[in-house]
Amino acid sequence: MKIDILEMTPTRAKFVISDTNPAFANALRRTIVADVPKMAIDNVEFHLGPIMDEKNQTFESVSPMFDETVAHRLGLIPIPTDLSAFNLRAKCTCGGEGCPSCTIMYSLNKKGPCTVYSGDLEPIGDAKFRIKDDLIPVVKLAEDQALLIYATAELGTGKQHAKWQGALGTGYRYFAKIEIEHSKCDLGGSCVKVCPKGVLAKEDRKIVVKHPERCNLCNSCVEVCDAGVIRVAGDPTKILFKFETDGALQAKEVLVRGLKILEERFENLREQISSLEE
Ligand code: SF4
Ligand SMILES: [Zn+2]
Repeated sequence: MKIDILEMTPTRAKFVISDTNPAFANALRRTIVADVPKMAIDNVEFHLGPIMDEKNQTFESVSPMFDETVAHRLGLIPIPTDLSAFNLRAKCTCGGEGCPSCTIMYSLNKKGPCTVYSGDLEPIGDAKFRIKDDLIPVVKLAEDQALLIYATAELGTGKQHAKWQGALGTGYRYFAKIEIEHSKCDLGGSCVKVCPKGVLAKEDRKIVVKHPERCNLCNSCVEVCDAGVIRVAGDPTKILFKFETDGALQAKEVLVRGLKILEERFENLREQISSLEE
């Protein structure tokens, strides 16, 4: 098996897996979606009762939304995740009580009228955990309304809740195998014009496959040409895979961690099978 990276940015990954099969691609997809851990806010404490500001003005501890809706929105904010620095809370040396090795604490203190944004969450401790995507609106506070919140983020996986999903829009499709019968081609160029993805081009009096990675197997080029001139088929041994992240984790980190989890699983399976054979 071989992986060729077509695009790798902090939040996007696109690559081709060769000498593979759909079962492996699907195993990787499921692992990336459900098993790569990520930080997300899981516990939110709301201050109840009046809040005074420095000018002795009193605010009500309320917002136009239910507290559980605000907590849910906070849960979906991407929290910068350093997988090498944190343990799963349940497996941490603190016994699950919560410590700097398994949780990140945030505070939020806003008084209306204003819009509360994700960037208003202040990490208690290391500033590197400040929210990068700081303009995600959470709630609008009216005059005399205020929010004083303590929120705790911890590691989890997409299997538990979508807020812990490391990758988004994870999908794959067969890489296109496009064959052109040049002896039968009339060089009219209609296949080039009809292709919605700019896969084909006319170069040196020849139709060439310029960007096979863009082909979505729509078959428009096959339909517009005489029978047998162009053949397009999906190759199940070569798979185009792509996903994005919400910025909590780098796309490369998600891919490497996903492959590592799969490797460990197959290794376990191999050991179990070997023990059965003994
Ligand atoms: S199958 Fe569709 S996308 Fe692929 S080359 Fe033909 S027209 Fe273009
Ligand atoms: Zn801990």
